[in-house]
Amino acid sequence: MKPNFITEIIDEHNKAGRFSQKVHTRFPPEPNGYLHIGHAKSICLNSGLACQYNGKFNLRFDDTNPCKEEQEYVDSIIEDVRWLGADWQERLFYASDYFEQMYEYAVMLIKKGKAYVCDLNAEQIRQSRGTLTTPGKDSPFRSRSIEENLDLFTRMRNGEFPDGAKTLRAKIDMAHPNFNMRDPVMYRILHSDHHRTKDAWCIYPTYDWAHGLEDSIEGITHSVCTLEFENHRPLYDWFLEQLEIFHPQQIEFARLNITYTVLSKRKLLELVQTKLVNGWDDPRMPTIAGLRRRGFPAQAIRDFCEEIGVAKFNSTIEVSILEEAVRTILNKTAQRVMAVLRPLKVVIVNYPQNQTEELDAVNNPEDKNAGTRKVPFSRELYIEKDDFRENPPKEFFRLCVGREVRLRYAYLITCVKVIKDASGEITELHCTYDPATRGGDAPDGRKVKSTIHWVSAQQAISAPIRLYDRLFTKANPEDTQGDFKTGINPQSLEIIQSCKLEPSLGAAQPHTCYQFERLGYFCVDAKDFAAGTLAFNRTVTLRDTWAKIEKAIERKTAPKK
Ligand code: ATP
Ligand code: MG
Repeated sequence: MKPNFITEIIDEHNKAGRFSQKVHTRFPPEPNGYLHIGHAKSICLNSGLACQYNGKFNLRFDDTNPCKEEQEYVDSIIEDVRWLGADWQERLFYASDYFEQMYEYAVMLIKKGKAYVCDLNAEQIRQSRGTLTTPGKDSPFRSRSIEENLDLFTRMRNGEFPDGAKTLRAKIDMAHPNFNMRDPVMYRILHSDHHRTKDAWCIYPTYDWAHGLEDSIEGITHSVCTLEFENHRPLYDWFLEQLEIFHPQQIEFARLNITYTVLSKRKLLELVQTKLVNGWDDPRMPTIAGLRRRGFPAQAIRDFCEEIGVAKFNSTIEVSILEEAVRTILNKTAQRVMAVLRPLKVVIVNYPQNQTEELDAVNNPEDKNAGTRKVPFSRELYIEKDDFRENPPKEFFRLCVGREVRLRYAYLITCVKVIKDASGEITELHCTYDPATRGGDAPDGRKVKSTIHWVSAQQAISAPIRLYDRLFTKANPEDTQGDFKTGINPQSLEIIQSCKLEPSLGAAQPHTCYQFERLGYFCVDAKDFAAGTLAFNRTVTLRDTWAKIEKAIERKTAPKK
């Protein structure tokens, strides 16, 4: 990890001996949704710090709110953190396992006169909180005796009161300049089953009360969280000081924001519930599950997190940086293959009927050890519709009538005739090949301007291919006034049903990424594969095509000189 302000803090602690040279971090998701790329940043940071300092890293479910939490989310989070490569060893914890201990800590605070049972409802508490310029008002229940508080708190736990009837609040200072310190709520009554503790509890701790306790109980040294908790740190510290228990250091960093992407769990849930995407693992989603299904390698996500670094101030990262990290890895690792998205049939009229030959194709020019494979060649082939023009413009160097081009790894061919159907649509091309150019080069040294990909018709396999694009057309969809969903890109998914693929792809395995030559990186959809269908998802294009579009827009809107 590059040195950053957090490693500086840890180095200081180690110098001063604050935690006896120990570094113990954690990732504390609330199981109320799937993890996204922002969480990946936190996971890489926390587990990375533990690695770098020979410390430990915990995975802990912060499952203190029974209403929105589900086992499905717990399972997906475990899978995603593991896939990212963060290792919690045997330290997988649940905040709900500490409920009893937290309750005892609360009793300790009551006994110290530092917490009280309050009968105000949520609205009344809000109203008595004051403003930035005026102090809040003391609750009329603030001066209850310790005995009465102990009795009421026990009865809260025993289920004697309905939801919202009472809370347990910390007794700090209603005039404190920091709102979070104005007698914050520690427990609320919620007669709701919890996905793990079932009906054992009807009072649940708030985040602020619970989080420091969870960290302390686990012996976390550096409790790394995002900037919105900066104002909560005094409260985090206050609870631990009052209880006189092990006191971790909370450190805040800037959360990750990415252009063209929403990273709010609430909004992602809304996309799922309104079926604007096909579930949390839709390959257009910025969730780890979505990115994995799309074909993003875990290493690319880790490299991205490392590259963007850790900052103290919020900023937005260009999504193209993430896509480039994916290309960098796939360029090194993805096998090259030939696939035709929009097939146009080519008949090589001077090639023998019923003959097939096997040609050598390079698997990965970036990796000498990747070797070669055989691709079949025969009289009938498919090429991309786009690679032929009947009336080619000047800059078009690919196939047209009378022109010679190279078929990758095969021969030079020349188009001699265009066949059309009754409606005038081109259905077939007739070409000739030069048998002396096997492998793609002419012995007489003549040059062609263009090399195109192809597949042999008879051996080709057919499969659907999904072309994914950015889910939002706006660079900052989170800032949209009103409904963020209006910024959705209507063209974020295009499905092409019968693409033609070279036969080696018949053995393709789920999640494996290929470079379809000249087209981009594509991976086998794991969900369809499990259901018995071979389908491919476009992971990324070969180049940043959006950069081109944006430049064109810039040119159009730029003031004329
Ligand atoms: P919410 O709390 O609203 O449900 P959340 O995204 O904060 O949403 P958590 O489950 O609390 O969800 O997040 C777990 C951890 O991931 C927290 O420590 C949080 O700070 C961190 N985290 C969440 N979003 C980001 C982000 N965009 N960038 C970096 N870290 C993030
Ligand atoms: Mg949170």
